[in-house]
Amino acid sequence: MKNIELQSILNRCVEKTASFQDFLTLIGLTNKDDLSALYQAAYQVKVNEVGNFVRLRGIIEFSNICNKDCLYCGIRKSNASFERFKMSKDEVLQSAEWAYEMNYGSVLLQAGERVDDEFIDFVEDCVKEIKLLSDNKLGITLSLGEQSRDTYARWFAAGAHRYLLRIETSNEELYKSLHPNDHSFDNRKKCLGWLRDAGYQVGTGVMIGFPRQSDEDLINDIMFFKEQDVDMIGMGPYIEHPDTPMSNSFLEYDAKKQHTLALKMIACTRLAMPNINIAASTALQALDQTGREKGLLAGANVIMPNLTDTKYRDKYKLYDGKPCLDENASQCRLCLEGRVAKIGEKIIYNEWGDSPHFKQRQKHKRD
Ligand code: SF4
Repeated sequence: MKNIELQSILNRCVEKTASFQDFLTLIGLTNKDDLSALYQAAYQVKVNEVGNFVRLRGIIEFSNICNKDCLYCGIRKSNASFERFKMSKDEVLQSAEWAYEMNYGSVLLQAGERVDDEFIDFVEDCVKEIKLLSDNKLGITLSLGEQSRDTYARWFAAGAHRYLLRIETSNEELYKSLHPNDHSFDNRKKCLGWLRDAGYQVGTGVMIGFPRQSDEDLINDIMFFKEQDVDMIGMGPYIEHPDTPMSNSFLEYDAKKQHTLALKMIACTRLAMPNINIAASTALQALDQTGREKGLLAGANVIMPNLTDTKYRDKYKLYDGKPCLDENASQCRLCLEGRVAKIGEKIIYNEWGDSPHFKQRQKHKRD
């Protein structure tokens, strides 16, 4: 693509006048120099809007028991090929306490989706006790799927303040191709509204590069993020899991292409929504050893180091080739600090790391 044309598109992105077609052109870039120009433009926007800082969310994957059956997911209910686990409350609290002592500022509680009372009470207790043990200092993000309006409100009242619920795709037809018939696109969208009503900072995200998804779909996803006015994004490349109905759906899985597509999606999202939080997902690192660093250099600003005890990690594989299964939380921390420093970024400790986007919305509400 001609340098001057690309530059004009990138300028329009910065000036917030870019069209759907402009973003479509960006997501379709393949030339190495063009891609570098895209990543650099997105990185610059990130530095201007959220700084060259990395925010941490220590993930605690506390259970792989799930009542859903998403066709792409390794821990779907119908996959009987591995052992299910559920951490005790003490184990969850120990991980959270470690994060607090290491000054992480924030943790993310994630698990398979359950809506029974025992589960809801368990999460509520964990949230309350994490708040107590950290003197209210540790921020808590939840990623526990579709729940009732009441449950979201209860967990918010207990002390959680951010919630990540990925839509996976904003195209309803494609959504159906990823899920069994009893999974509802409308309900998922409704849940995003309930989360906002309950007071959470709301995050969503999509799977990037799954079968039948087009570039138009991906740009529509970014438009969906804007329409929902989300505060944070957690998205990653689609990676097949062998024990799912969707495995082998590509004739040949091209890891490099998938990785590049995910980086382009991060960069385009940063250009479209300059002051939100965007995670460099672990899945990026599954496809490329320095994948998360590349994600940061393409516009992401959040990393989610795994705090889950190593004895459980290989039982929480949503996709194949998940990295860092043998490294304990301390090893992860050292490794991460080195990786982030190498690219000239700095980890911010002891802060919740809320997005400027959220703070801006709060301010508008008050004014
Ligand atoms: S994607 Fe989430 S809800 Fe779906 S099967 Fe996997 S863990 Fe369960």
